[in-house]
Amino acid sequence: MQLTSANGPPAHILIIDDEPTVATHIRRIVESCGHRASACHTWTEALRAFGRGDVDLILMDAVMPAVDGFKLTRIIRSRARTYVPIVFLTGLADDNARVKGIEAGGDDFLTKPIHPLELQVRIKAMLRIRSLTQALEEKTRTLSRLAAMDALTGIGNRRSFDERLRSELQISAESGKPLTVLLLDLDHFKSVNDNHGHAVGDELLRAFGRLLAESTRACDVPYRYGGEEFAVLCPNSTTDDACSLGERVRAAFQRTSGAATAAGTRTCSIGAAGTDILTGELSPHAILTAADAALYRAKDSGRNCVCKFDPMFDEKAA
Ligand code: GH3
Ligand code: MG
Ligand code: MG
Repeated sequence: MQLTSANGPPAHILIIDDEPTVATHIRRIVESCGHRASACHTWTEALRAFGRGDVDLILMDAVMPAVDGFKLTRIIRSRARTYVPIVFLTGLADDNARVKGIEAGGDDFLTKPIHPLELQVRIKAMLRIRSLTQALEEKTRTLSRLAAMDALTGIGNRRSFDERLRSELQISAESGKPLTVLLLDLDHFKSVNDNHGHAVGDELLRAFGRLLAESTRACDVPYRYGGEEFAVLCPNSTTDDACSLGERVRAAFQRTSGAATAAGTRTCSIGAAGTDILTGELSPHAILTAADAALYRAKDSGRNCVCKFDPMFDEKAA
């Protein structure tokens, strides 16, 4: 009786065994199930092969010179970003070896000499775990992408902005390179909702999100900060650099056309504050308060303009 890979696509199975003849015997069994096999005879070769990232299952010898299978399993488990099942194939028949194998991060254990059907059954079961885990990992990636994204505009949300601001401030403090925050608020946006309806308001927010994404460099990340307020994090930019970007966005928004923008209001006010002009402790709260104070002054100065934080005027932030 023989099991095949008929229920799924061929998998890549890595055989790690210091005995070439044993590895060849195992390879034949693996290939007879329709899978692709690679064999490694040393732990360095094994780590290199695993590092290529396309291995679905590892068949691991326990007793090997220098680094044994238990230790190698621990190394692989600590480095891998995806879960790859590991089955120990070993001449060690005692219970102690079984316990050590599972505790090191192995998933199953087969005693040599290897019976082909026993191995085929294990391969089938382990590849099922591998494909379920892969589906789960993919779902987790999708969910974390969604959790970081604003559903209306498709750009980053407030949560991801707060996280990124914290880490960029740390990077800026360590590298000495400036970091600037732009806060952008649509002018008289409420009147768009009031006069043309919420759907047109939503469309205008989407259009502004697109404009931000298109106008910024790859490293300047746009976010929807909340309501009709947006933010751009500009790493490695002085406040003046970021003001130029703000000015480009402001002018481009005024030039936009389309159903939503035809509805009326298409100007925005922008406040900028960067680590190059702020004094005192540079916390997320301090930089945001300063950018907000500059935005408030932009509104106060008649809207549709960019203001740079100035401690002389922006008392709110002092
Ligand atoms: P200002 O120029 O001073 O910024 O005035 P404004 O009207 O833009 O600001 P205000 O804070 O008075 O109003 C913001 C409006 O944005 C009120 C709120 O209902 C609307 N809003 C917030 N989130 C959304 C949304 O997701 N979709 C739509 N359509 N409207 C939203
Ligand atoms: Mg507004
Ligand atoms: Mg507002």
